[in-house]
Amino acid sequence: MSEVLVVVDHVDGAIRKPTLELLTLARRMGSASAVFIGPADAAAGAAEKLAAHGAEKVYTVDDAPLRGYLVVPKVEVLQHLVEKTSPAAVLLVSGSEGKEIAARLSIRTGSGLITDAVDLDADGTTTQSVFAGSFTVKAKVTTGTPIITVKPNSAPVEETAGAGIVEPVSVAISEGAKAAMVVASQPRKASGRPELTEAAIVVSGGRGTGGDFAPVEALADSLGAAVGASRAAVDSGWMPHSFQVGQTGKTVSPQLYVANGISGAIQHRAGMQTSKTIVAVNKDPEAPIFELVDFGVVGDLHTVLPKVTEEVTTR
Ligand code: FAD
Repeated sequence: MSEVLVVVDHVDGAIRKPTLELLTLARRMGSASAVFIGPADAAAGAAEKLAAHGAEKVYTVDDAPLRGYLVVPKVEVLQHLVEKTSPAAVLLVSGSEGKEIAARLSIRTGSGLITDAVDLDADGTTTQSVFAGSFTVKAKVTTGTPIITVKPNSAPVEETAGAGIVEPVSVAISEGAKAAMVVASQPRKASGRPELTEAAIVVSGGRGTGGDFAPVEALADSLGAAVGASRAAVDSGWMPHSFQVGQTGKTVSPQLYVANGISGAIQHRAGMQTSKTIVAVNKDPEAPIFELVDFGVVGDLHTVLPKVTEEVTTR
């Protein structure tokens, strides 16, 4: 069975959930092989987790010589692995780094590239949801090694034992790959909340907050949820773009999505409509979001949310 390479997305060795989703998809096409480019002391723990989610092989690459550079050294590592293993596909998480690596890798290997897939069949056919979910496109790479980026929350996480054979890989990085390096970076302030695309509960706010996100954040914290925002809230400068849910923001698919003061424009729905249970609080009973919800509350969010938060907190 051909290998399918899964590029591991992690933070200091802690594997992020979308990688485990990629392993589920990889196993449909062949034998899942994870590529962990990260700190050497985190490799064993990472390999164990990857094996517990079906990785038959884990290529580990110590990232110490790569640190401080942009993505090109990682591309060279992956190019080496593609040439060595001739995989059936390479899967990456659709994020800014995943997409940049995918684009560069496809050029270096002369391969076709598909971005933002939301599903993958055993024969390599991908599904993409385009124009805010108005159209579904089925596409397949016909040249080279299929390089595919997959949106988070597109597949279930499956716990299934794989052999998890660890194979350390060492690749000599070219001088050209070191042409750009990071000269300064500022770590993101830890919010203590779950990552938006991985959270089981997301509480979002829109223009209806009037810029006061305190009730939204208080409810989110009482539920252990992530905070999201509509583009109107982001464009108004009330929340950073990393909080935006929708067509030009993040796609979320939590167990519970609570939309507060959000009208339910198609571009917002594109990022949250696959949530398992949707609740909306909106003062306009005609708001389009109510067409989509499992539970709706017609009311002012500044009145409703503090009551819900109090109820949750006292339970
Ligand atoms: P509005 O549409 O203004 O709705 C505010 C809602 O709040 C109303 O329904 C109102 O009744 C309610 N409200 C007001 N006050 C209160 C209150 N006190 N209590 C309760 N309810 C109240 N949008 C996204 O969200 N994500 C995207 O990724 C995105 N991408 C886009 C891409 C393109 C190419 C384009 C053209 C648009 C995109 N948009 C996106 C914008 C989208 O079309 C909408 O403009 C946006 O989602 C509206 O945000 P909103 O619902 O917060 O604001």
